[in-house]
Amino acid sequence: MSKITIAQGAGGERMLEFIKEFVLNELEHDSGEIPLSALDDAAVVDGIVFTTDSYTVKPLFFPGGDIGLLSVAGTVNDVSVMGARPLALSCGMIIEEGFSGEDLHAIMRSMGATAKRAGVGIVTGDTKVVERGAADGLFINTSGIGRRSEYLDGNIKRVRASRDYPWNWPNDSAVADGDVIIVSGPIGNHGVALLSFREGYGFETAVKTDAAPLNSLIEAALRAGGVTAMKDPTRGGLANLLNEWAEKSSVGIAVREEDIPLEPAVLSACEMLGIDPLEIGNEGKVVIAAVPEAAEGVLKAIRAMPEGRSAQIAGKASADIEGVILQTHTGGKRMIEPPVGDPVPRIC
Ligand code: MG
Repeated sequence: MSKITIAQGAGGERMLEFIKEFVLNELEHDSGEIPLSALDDAAVVDGIVFTTDSYTVKPLFFPGGDIGLLSVAGTVNDVSVMGARPLALSCGMIIEEGFSGEDLHAIMRSMGATAKRAGVGIVTGDTKVVERGAADGLFINTSGIGRRSEYLDGNIKRVRASRDYPWNWPNDSAVADGDVIIVSGPIGNHGVALLSFREGYGFETAVKTDAAPLNSLIEAALRAGGVTAMKDPTRGGLANLLNEWAEKSSVGIAVREEDIPLEPAVLSACEMLGIDPLEIGNEGKVVIAAVPEAAEGVLKAIRAMPEGRSAQIAGKASADIEGVILQTHTGGKRMIEPPVGDPVPRIC
């Protein structure tokens, strides 16, 4: 008899196999403009962008944030990277009997503040309380809907002035030869902040989560124009994101290690723990592909936003290579493989 494993929910290769076996095999999945089978950040049905995400982060409070911040930012970002403006969110909570009322107040305050910051309402929800031991404190699910950004048509027009672009949304299959890859800021902070705070790891760091709603930054990028694809490097990190793009878009991607934004404290924590910063999930970053003529304009637009100050052009897509290649500091080259599991479980 088969049993579900942690790795099957970790966002890497095992999860992809899991989705194919348990989800795509059993559900009708070809309806909508961006259907379930696209396995993108969100679906598009009748012009409405729609996404959902469950949050099981452990611990619930961590340096720089909590599950409330995470559950709003994550869903806002998955709607936004499809080129949509988030319209409304739902909130479903599963609470373990005995959970602290003060903690729940704090988490709900944080949800409210993050929703306000993103300019989106939480308009419907559901609460279940289960008996002690049946859940680990609190789990939250948020779903979100969004409407096509008013800047998306202009953005696509700009792309089409440069190259053939059959897409109507900046989806995972839309990256092509020559596209410039922009990373919106330092990676790895969220995973390292969580690990440092967990019991038993015995190291301290000033690293805080990067969790933040990115809808304003993303809108600024679309307004600049020339964006071909966008995605948030959550579970599986930058390594998983670039491999998903390379596979779905049938194009190679090369990035330069020196141009991937990374804070020294995150790098040293990763070295100490033996984990690859490229494989750690982020909750306040977006990776943007843009046609070369527009890349500097997009970069400038997102650097003008507080969440994008350290954005960098990190590489480009190329038909001449296969898979994802990292050009290292020392001038060498190595393949970036999609992570099999998750180096830091339950970070979101
Ligand atoms: Mg996503």
